[in-house]
Amino acid sequence: LTQLYSPLHFLGFIYREIKHSLADMERMFGLLETHAEVADGTGAEVLATRAAGVRFEHVDFGYDAKRQILHDVSLSIPPGRTLAVVGASGAGKSTLSRLLFRFYDVSAGGISINGTDIRQLTQDSLRAHIGIVPQDTVLFNDSIYYNIAYGRPGASREEIIEAAKSAHIHDFVVGLPDGYDTLVGERGLKLSGGEKQRVAIARTILKNPPILVFDEATSALDSRTEKAIQHELAEISANRTTLIIAHRLSTVVDADEIVVLDGGRVIERGSHRQLVEQNGRYAEMWLLQQESENTAEAL
Ligand code: ADP
Ligand code: MG
Repeated sequence: LTQLYSPLHFLGFIYREIKHSLADMERMFGLLETHAEVADGTGAEVLATRAAGVRFEHVDFGYDAKRQILHDVSLSIPPGRTLAVVGASGAGKSTLSRLLFRFYDVSAGGISINGTDIRQLTQDSLRAHIGIVPQDTVLFNDSIYYNIAYGRPGASREEIIEAAKSAHIHDFVVGLPDGYDTLVGERGLKLSGGEKQRVAIARTILKNPPILVFDEATSALDSRTEKAIQHELAEISANRTTLIIAHRLSTVVDADEIVVLDGGRVIERGSHRQLVEQNGRYAEMWLLQQESENTAEAL
């Protein structure tokens, strides 16, 4: 049985590797190229703005027709404001960011930026306006320098190093034998989840887009580094329209509005204070996290 099992197991491994690489490629190039799911409409407009208001109106969505993921989701982020989305894993939080980036089109309702439906915009201009720090960052098989510089082609070395400093990755990089020329990715130095997140944060700081999306962007960091980076993130998001998808509620306390998503539906919304006073799901999550943080500190 082991003889039968091993080759199959090996094939399974290869298959997963290939599938993973393809997924990586798709994710990387998805940022650059048109995604098969969507296309520019004829006469699509170029989005040209620095202050961008984002609005989801009665959005329904499913990755396939059999299973609806989002149900009548409406939310609004005024220009320069911060909206946080919290909720259990699988609630549909990351799906919101994929729809905003237009990897997929909504099945009902609409998403607009400054009142223009994103389906009326060229994908290039839409994506140039949005910087996403994703949950799982994929790096190019290239130098760390390239991986940060990719955020804004044409950036100077000083700007790249400045971004790396803001993302608290510079000291780590200069400590490597090849410094910024160190090769990373599948065939290079394997970075930890937290290091990859910091490269992605540096890339986004460099890109300097008017709309920011942090999808559990600091979830792989230890809480000390997270606190340090939080300050930088707050600074770069200060005058930018920001969507924070959060895992640790401590990161959303200061958001202008917090939306609680459950099973693809908005079940609560308000400021941190309002939601705590409301004594609903958010208050429950807040209490639980504080308890677990206290326990962790006591250990
Ligand atoms: P969250 O970020 O809140 O954890 P997601 O938005 O990633 O949740 O996922 C919401 C739901 O959509 C989950 O049930 C997930 O399994 C499903 N889902 C996510 N991505 C895909 C996909 N590419 N194809 C099909 N289903 C998906
Ligand atoms: Mg997610």
